[in-house]
Amino acid sequence: MVNSRFSDLADTGMPGLSPQSTLVTGGRPDTEPDAPLNPAVTFASTYHAGGQRGYGRYGNPTWEAFEDVIGALEGGRTLAFSSGLAASDAVLSLLPEACTVVAPDCAYLGVLDQLRERRDAGRLELRQVDVTDTASVAAAARGAAMVWLESPTNPKLDVADITAISDAAAAAGALTVVDNTFATPLLQRPLELGADVVVHSATKLISGHSDVVSGAVVTADDGLFDRLDRHRRLHGATPSPMDVYLALRGLRTLSVRLERAQANAAELASRLASHPRVSIVRYPGYGSICSIEVAGGADSADAVVEAVRLWVHTTSLGGVESTLERRRRWPSESETVDESLIRLSVGIEDVDDLWRDLSHALDVT
Ligand SMILES: *Cc1c(COP(=O)(O)O)cnc(C)c1O
Repeated sequence: MVNSRFSDLADTGMPGLSPQSTLVTGGRPDTEPDAPLNPAVTFASTYHAGGQRGYGRYGNPTWEAFEDVIGALEGGRTLAFSSGLAASDAVLSLLPEACTVVAPDCAYLGVLDQLRERRDAGRLELRQVDVTDTASVAAAARGAAMVWLESPTNPKLDVADITAISDAAAAAGALTVVDNTFATPLLQRPLELGADVVVHSATKLISGHSDVVSGAVVTADDGLFDRLDRHRRLHGATPSPMDVYLALRGLRTLSVRLERAQANAAELASRLASHPRVSIVRYPGYGSICSIEVAGGADSADAVVEAVRLWVHTTSLGGVESTLERRRRWPSESETVDESLIRLSVGIEDVDDLWRDLSHALDVT
């Protein structure tokens, strides 16, 4: 049965568990003698007839364990996807033909490209907005079918007022979708703030070890859930059970990873603010991602990312290891992102080691 086990937490005999406990207890098999503590990795293309899973593209017990935990954390029902972009693509399939979508002027590139592809094919009108300007987002929502938010945004860390924007979107008859990848459900639960759908790249903080590409969609609306489930069944962006197992295994430790990474990020953001080579620090005050702009433009930023030794120069983010990247090295990155912007994904290493390495790279380049 897909996503049916939302009573899991009640099964512990302790309703109302905190998210930190839900991370650990959710999605476990029944507690019969000799039953394993962990869900199995179920490799199955098909199931004995007469049940609800039916076929491997429709459901999988390992997916369900992961979906139960994310669903309990976000306050909705979850569908696991093969990547964050498969998840966002499924959500965009909810759009009617010839509609209008409001989206951030700068956000995760792949999602914006999915929107631009549809716009260029004449399937939608795209209104890009500064998500920090609530009044203009609300104005743009009039006549739109969907408001797509990412908050904090990648890589500028802009924060949207999800409550006010969801209200305005609902009044205009538009769905609000929030990409919650950067905040995770431990720091922000968009469905509680009025959003209709939450999207995750579980590749990032949720799995947390840079070893899996994975995504998820969450909604508390049964009608939307059924349409998204049908999309997954029909279009086949289904995850491997092994990948989902890895994502779930990583998810168990999200609270301790995030706690350390966030403390490190806050400390580094404050030290970076007084470094003479750093012109701007972008840190929303929470989370593990921070961006800096450095004096000297692109060349100078490139020199910094080449000079680090503990930090890893790579794209992607949200792993236990600290990584950094000059975002404009990607030709399609938004021109609203400064050429010298370096995105820092702060990990769980010792903060003084991270500072020594990064400040040294800034000092010598
Ligand atoms: C990485 C990312 C995505 C895309 O997810 P994939 O798992 O790489 O497909 C979407 N949104 C944000 C904010 C991301 O960082």
